[in-house]
Amino acid sequence: MTLRSSAEPLDRAYGLAMFDLDGVVYLLSNPVPGVPEAIGRAEAAGCQSIFVTNNASRLTSTVADSLRSMGIDCRDDQVVSSAQAAARAIADHCGEGAATFMTGSPAFRAALENEGLAIVDDPREAVAVAQGFFPTMQLKDLASATLAARRGAYWVVANLDATLPTPDGPMPGMGAYVKVVETALGRGPDVVAGKPRPTIFRAALERVPDARPLMVGDRPDSDIEGANALGIDSLLVFSGVVKPASALRLPPERRPTYLGWTAAELNNPQPEVTVEEPGAAHCEEWSVKLVSGTLTLSGKGDELSAWRALCAAAWSAVDAGAEFSDGLAAVGAEAESALTTA
Ligand SMILES: [Mg+2]
Repeated sequence: MTLRSSAEPLDRAYGLAMFDLDGVVYLLSNPVPGVPEAIGRAEAAGCQSIFVTNNASRLTSTVADSLRSMGIDCRDDQVVSSAQAAARAIADHCGEGAATFMTGSPAFRAALENEGLAIVDDPREAVAVAQGFFPTMQLKDLASATLAARRGAYWVVANLDATLPTPDGPMPGMGAYVKVVETALGRGPDVVAGKPRPTIFRAALERVPDARPLMVGDRPDSDIEGANALGIDSLLVFSGVVKPASALRLPPERRPTYLGWTAAELNNPQPEVTVEEPGAAHCEEWSVKLVSGTLTLSGKGDELSAWRALCAAAWSAVDAGAEFSDGLAAVGAEAESALTTA
């Protein structure tokens, strides 16, 4: 995988943009500057939007409300949650109206009921067990999920996100609680609905079939890896958890097709990134060379294109077997300081 170019703006080259939410459209509850307007321009250019969230504890209509309050013109059915994907996975495997034991928020329950599943209160009666995060989760909920799954119920979890972003920093997420059940059972869930697994991407693609999709995300291990696994192109944005310097170290399965500071990059064409040989690449007026075991950047112009050249050079060098003792940290730090003082 290496970076590609697009002579057309991305919102003309692709018919569907699938947006991750936190770190892409907003940060906690503030919109990323310029992104709501960019989504409007993309829609006007003919690129439809779907918002894809691993959060199973909010109604999709609540998510859509908050997007509208940020100035994004979206309908409720443009939001796809891991709760909906989990419900679909159960209906597909266990049949319509399957007796399902659930632990999760009222929104998670609503998603299961909307799919026609019959919610049961006794884990012993369940043919499926659905586990979603909710803030008042108790030990008995984990024990009931364990009981249902041990008795053979089809075990579906909303996501494996290890942490949950909060104003006080990362707190244990769904993945941490799934580990508890997994430890008791000695095996993992039958299905993980959320990113990076394919279930949620397929649910999103079904909403706008036949359009060429582009995933827009900030997490290489979730948004980008999931898109790559399904052969979907992706735009990695630096408005969330990843800074450009750490993109240098991405393994092949987590490398995106395009890079952007924010999702507003969707409105732009993408310049050519050329790899001359492993460790040597250029983009616009920037070039990168592998000299005595390190990558050296030279040139001028758009800072994002410097990072495009650096990523292409680093990825090609690593793929050809080059080893960087510090995992390219020094190259990243040097480029960061050179680019901020330029
Ligand atoms: Mg995110």
